[in-house]
Amino acid sequence: MKIIDPNFLNPSISVFSNCPTCQGLIPIKRKDGILDVEERNCPHCGIQIYREEIIENLLRNVFITQAISSANQIISLDIAIFIFLSVSIFTFFYSSQFPFIHNLFIVCLAVWIFPLILCIGWLYKHGQWVSNDEEYLQAKNTIKKSTVLWITAHFFNLLLLIYKFWM
Ligand SMILES: [Zn+2]
Repeated sequence: MKIIDPNFLNPSISVFSNCPTCQGLIPIKRKDGILDVEERNCPHCGIQIYREEIIENLLRNVFITQAISSANQIISLDIAIFIFLSVSIFTFFYSSQFPFIHNLFIVCLAVWIFPLILCIGWLYKHGQWVSNDEEYLQAKNTIKKSTVLWITAHFFNLLLLIYKFWM
């Protein structure tokens, strides 16, 4: 969702609301120092849009944009899955040669739960919007995939630890 239009000729940031009927974007301009959210006719389908509808959709767009940017930050942690699995496998095979690394890994296990908590937190906090916004839907999908990846990685690591414990 692009609610910020980086137009260099017009440096004032524009935000958008949506028409409740046709979903067309409605730019919200600043007027006398405040956002102009007065009722108007949709520039796309011509239907009358009330002030409350303009405000509601404007806020929704802001929240969805926030959700997307938060998702992008969480997804950037996905790379840590490979580090987590590498250390997990390494300590499984070489714990006797490198007991310090093994112990450090065990001590730090809680830290590796953090990205999983973030993913689940995102789905709980940001994943509930009803929206057709492609960028939002894609972000939601990617977070779901990240959640599955992290759960799988932790499950795999748990199996290794249990196996090692019983050896
Ligand atoms: Zn419309």
